Amino acid sequence: MELSSLEDLLVEELKDLYSAENQLLKAIPKMAKAATSKTLKSGFEKHLKQTEGHVERLEQVCELFDVSPKGKKCKAMEGLIEEGADVIKEDAEPEVKDAALIAAAQRVEHYEIAGYGCVRTYAKLLGNDKAARLLQQTLDEEGDTDKALTKLAETINVEAEDPTISSNGKTAKRRTAKRHLARA
Ligand code: FE
Ligand code: FE
Repeated sequence: MELSSLEDLLVEELKDLYSAENQLLKAIPKMAKAATSKTLKSGFEKHLKQTEGHVERLEQVCELFDVSPKGKKCKAMEGLIEEGADVIKEDAEPEVKDAALIAAAQRVEHYEIAGYGCVRTYAKLLGNDKAARLLQQTLDEEGDTDKALTKLAETINVEAEDPTISSNGKTAKRRTAKRHLARA
């Protein structure tokens, strides 16, 4: 493959993301199934729906540049998903496994955020505002998902520290507050 212009690079990166998103369509349901926390489970299910939209947007963007989104395999996402699969197989306490699933999912989100940030900028530089807007929408959703996972981790990770704490959000929050006070 020859990259002689920014547009060539954009196309390569779009293909990479298209492969990544399609791999995720198969992986996210397995992550949802492995999650114990209802909030985490429904978070994965919500992101699966969004991921279908991400695939569609990439198809739209590729159409704008008159290229096919197919033809590349994202090896990085393959590796991240493999690590997620290891977590799923792990014999762990449910709360600890949920924390590990969140960690795996956040690695995925950060990879996507990096990829979409780049292609959004390239599209803008190439003067294709419509493509830039579509890619920004996906970038925003990946960012929101990452933030939601961080928020969830604050509760779940506390439970993972002490599995006797109920999954009742209030109890967990109180414990977190207490810990912060103890540290201060
Ligand atoms: Fe995505
Ligand atoms: Fe994502």
